[in-house]
Amino acid sequence: MAAGRAARSFSVAVVGAGAAGLASVRALRREGLAVTAFEARPEAGGTWVLEAGTRGAQSSLYDSLRTNLPRELMGFQELPFTGAPGTSPYCGHREVRQYLEAYAARFDLKRSIRFGERVVSARRVTRGRGGGGAGWRLEIDAGGERGAYQEIFDALMVCNGHYTEARFPAEAAACESFTAADGCSQTHSHEYREPGCFRGKRVVLVGGGPSAMDLSVEIASVAEEVLLSARVADPAAFSAQLAKINAACGVGIQARPWVRAAEPGRVHFEGGGSARVDSIVWCTGYHYSFPWLDLGGDPAMGGPGPALGGDCVEALYRHVFLPEHAPELSFVGVPFRVAPFPQFELQAAWVAACLAGRRSLPPEAEMRRRAAEELRTQRETFALPRHTHQLGGLQWDYNDLLAEESGFPPLAGWRRRVYDASKENRAESPGDYRDKLPEGLELSLAEALRDLGEGAAQ
Ligand code: FAD
Repeated sequence: MAAGRAARSFSVAVVGAGAAGLASVRALRREGLAVTAFEARPEAGGTWVLEAGTRGAQSSLYDSLRTNLPRELMGFQELPFTGAPGTSPYCGHREVRQYLEAYAARFDLKRSIRFGERVVSARRVTRGRGGGGAGWRLEIDAGGERGAYQEIFDALMVCNGHYTEARFPAEAAACESFTAADGCSQTHSHEYREPGCFRGKRVVLVGGGPSAMDLSVEIASVAEEVLLSARVADPAAFSAQLAKINAACGVGIQARPWVRAAEPGRVHFEGGGSARVDSIVWCTGYHYSFPWLDLGGDPAMGGPGPALGGDCVEALYRHVFLPEHAPELSFVGVPFRVAPFPQFELQAAWVAACLAGRRSLPPEAEMRRRAAEELRTQRETFALPRHTHQLGGLQWDYNDLLAEESGFPPLAGWRRRVYDASKENRAESPGDYRDKLPEGLELSLAEALRDLGEGAAQ
């Protein structure tokens, strides 16, 4: 603990009690800091707590979802995530929720969480004499009798997830008239829960990611026709992937170019061509969104801050800290194409170690310089702003860096081997990879189980 920072009197607010928020509460408590987490929903688990499919829903999970990563890899380092012998490592979403419940119970995290309380605004404030410098004033809507109230904390950890605010591509604006035809609908994968409403319909799904693939297979099991409109670098490879999916799943999904525009009941594709369809399902991802986070803050703290959200959170140092507010403001869970939970654990450990004064960050100017450099490299690698926080194969060096900075144990080597083997498996058998365990994956999972201690389930 740094001089002058008395553990129990340094207060930290955590926004959200999904996997990232739970890992943050755990890390802060391990450092002996006073933590209060706010969770808008009545339970912990975030994404993994299924809810009705409406535009305002927090979770984007659908009824039949099974993980796209083996559970052994998904688990936190502090609590192995294994299944009963003989069960698939790609488990159903309920088991993930149970695992998160077990994690919360194992470390008694719920006593630090205020459920059913939504943070509606957070802004930096100066505190008066004796108040001890700057802080973050939160406005909370607790509903019911408690209603709205305010509270000031020394630091704020943002763990609000980024699979809630549906993202639509520019072409969606040219498709608005589509639903003017009788019986036609447009939805986003965020609202999808089960395929019943597509029975006997002609459906086009727009997108080329995991949601588009999974949903098109499920919808194709009941629909009259399913078209998959994707913008891909290699259309031949994409068609070959679809052919494998069709063969494995006994469906007939057809590849189409990207949707360009629509008229009532008909969509038009890039490069010419059109199709009569009844439904468009946009599987086009999500925006980062922090509408309650006001970085303009107290005028005494300086000019207006950057507007946050959209395709990325620009200017973050190592995807976690905004240099001008570090370490008192941090973000856990921003990167994607990663194994999320163990990375959350490492990010949270780093933030907590910095807040406790056990680790220090470089000066603000140096963090800004490095953040700009990281952004440049990321743009050179992936080009688009929405890929700013995409890590993929870069996640392992990044995780090692977090472990080094925080003093938390680095991830075991099998995690990378399981990740790579499961990625290969998905590419090889895109339609039924969850039910196939090729030798390479079997071997790396056996290594995982040995390391985790066989049967050390929740
Ligand atoms: P969330 O789980 O979204 O939790 C955020 C929490 O913050 C929520 O509980 C929310 O209510 C709360 N909150 C938000 N704003 C406020 C506020 N203002 N005040 C109070 N509370 C607030 N990951 C895997 O590892 N394996 C998979 O197979 C996998 N499949 C996925 C499939 C789908 C369809 C999706 C959408 C995601 C999948 N993921 C998967 C990624 C998954 O999102 C992460 O694993 C992880 O659950 C994200 O956790 P989080 O805590 O960052 O966000």
